[in-house]
Amino acid sequence: MAIRNILIQDDPALYKKCRPVTVFDQRLKQLVDDMTETLLQSGGAGLAAPQVGVLRRVVVVLDVNKDPEEVIVLINPELLEVRGSERMPEGCLSFPNVWGYVTRPSWAKVRAQDVNGNWFEKEGEGVVAQCFSHEHDHLEGHVFTEKIEEFIDPEDIQKA
Ligand code: ZN
Repeated sequence: MAIRNILIQDDPALYKKCRPVTVFDQRLKQLVDDMTETLLQSGGAGLAAPQVGVLRRVVVVLDVNKDPEEVIVLINPELLEVRGSERMPEGCLSFPNVWGYVTRPSWAKVRAQDVNGNWFEKEGEGVVAQCFSHEHDHLEGHVFTEKIEEFIDPEDIQKA
């Protein structure tokens, strides 16, 4: 496993729609392993492949509702169903020092493939639903700053 370099705000890779994964090979497993390690080391809650410069539909999300926390790997994820809405403080590993309030679903169900290509469904609530939505946006070439309703001073976050 290796830590990958996370691309920062103006990088063109963050603004491109990602292609589906069609080959479930060792290279994909390596990408997923590296993304998992990079996420865990970063202290973030989710990471999408375009953030490490790979324009494929792969995301990893930290399931903070589990104890111990688990990494959810989603390949070719689709948002099947969303419910509710919650306005929460949000950040992104590609935008260090940018924080803002974004309204996201409070519950979401996704359908995705695992590293072997098997389809499964996964439900998430709270921060996990927020992450499913945030990471799915990355795959469409969208970033959270487009959705910020109110910016938060980073100093206020550090105090919280
Ligand atoms: Zn992000």
